[in-house]
Amino acid sequence: MTHTASGNAALAARDLKHLWHPCTQMHDHDPAGAMQVPMVPIVRGEGVWLIDADGKRYLDGISSWWTNLFGHANPRIAAALADQAQQLEHVIFAGFTHEPAVALAEELVRVTPAGLDRVFYADNGSAAIEVALKMSFHYWLNQGHGEKTRFIALTGSYHGETLGALSVSDVALYRKTYAPLLLTPFLAPSPDAYEGESGESPEQTAKRRLVDMRRLLEKHAHETCAVIVEPLVQCAGGMRMYDPIYLRGLRALCDEFAVHFIADEIAVGFGRTGTLFGCQQADVSPDFMCLSKGLTGGFLPLSAVLTTQAIYEAFYAEYSAGKAFLHSHSYTGNPLACRVALETLAIFRDEPVLERNRELSAYLARRLAPLRDHPNVADVRQTGMIAAVELVADKASRRNFPPSDRRGMRVYLHGLKLGVLLRPLGDVIYFMPPYVVTAREIDLLVETAIAGIELAVAG
Ligand SMILES: *Cc1c(COP(=O)(O)O)cnc(C)c1O
Repeated sequence: MTHTASGNAALAARDLKHLWHPCTQMHDHDPAGAMQVPMVPIVRGEGVWLIDADGKRYLDGISSWWTNLFGHANPRIAAALADQAQQLEHVIFAGFTHEPAVALAEELVRVTPAGLDRVFYADNGSAAIEVALKMSFHYWLNQGHGEKTRFIALTGSYHGETLGALSVSDVALYRKTYAPLLLTPFLAPSPDAYEGESGESPEQTAKRRLVDMRRLLEKHAHETCAVIVEPLVQCAGGMRMYDPIYLRGLRALCDEFAVHFIADEIAVGFGRTGTLFGCQQADVSPDFMCLSKGLTGGFLPLSAVLTTQAIYEAFYAEYSAGKAFLHSHSYTGNPLACRVALETLAIFRDEPVLERNRELSAYLARRLAPLRDHPNVADVRQTGMIAAVELVADKASRRNFPPSDRRGMRVYLHGLKLGVLLRPLGDVIYFMPPYVVTAREIDLLVETAIAGIELAVAG
């Protein structure tokens, strides 16, 4: 294929004629509009780089929505996918099975915290959350506790955007409009360290928030199926981070009050936080663990819900007992996606990924440190390979910019100009690069962000 100088323009125009993009006010792409956000057609990926139809390169600083781990078009994963495509692309997963699904389940059971011995597949993160919510409710129903119909979520949480997943999310941008359609969870205040009281350590904030959780459980445990949390980092809610001790305390509370603990590791799993899974930093095992995003190294949509043998057994009975778990997606256990996930996990086995990430995240921390003194930066925080910078109008009071200013969007537009993909969450500028990023590429990422921040906060 050849690309003329108008390659980008032509493809973008065709796109805008028929497509409707996620998480986008399409008017932002209006060439005559206020923002004039370009639609960027990507033709090729290579490591951390995305290459557009005009040949311009963009450093993918956010791993294409947190999915990519080992680089775009990773040759090893691509080869596994090509091989699988020539053997078996898909087969119904009820009554039939295949090696990639079986081997992946074995491997997931091996690498996740102890006790998670059963694997249920779905095909994206939100679907995994739906499965976990239904399974938890249905477990209690099968145990004779049909009165348990509610869920507890944390303020600032994000668990996806299908109706069930959105129900247990608390990011107003996504939830507010659809609230009339949703289940109503009980909200417990997040252990988010940024929202801690002044002088309080992250650990003290977490402990105080555990007291709030206890109070909520004292009141509502009898009608509650599960508590759902994002371990260590509330990602879409603004990369808000908290002390692992919260997870330890939550595990104990869930046991004490007989409610399930659902760990949504869709964003933080597979090495993002420094350990393979966030729960491991608190040495806890949840009752359900939801995985997606990095599961396939960013190649294909796939998700998995892991749970315990005890929960599985509450569904295991004669057909006539009517206890079977009923949830199915056409593409459940897709062989291509399972094979790609297996190859992704093989890379973790064969290469010192977590060790390398430790060095990269230490380097990223050093490069971001000077931003702490910036008059419009209220917080620079980091957990492993996730770092975030909180932009504010006033450092002392932490007063935010009016959202209508769209300061974060200015950082995004500046990044695009310089060939760096940063896509802030509101005014939170964050870094979540693929694990194959180099120190020099981190330099470019951070320098571009700092220049973008200077532009964004001016005027
Ligand atoms: C992205 C995300 C989801 C939803 O996954 P999708 O595949 O986008 O539906 C759920 N939970 C968390 C924590 C996420 O970051």
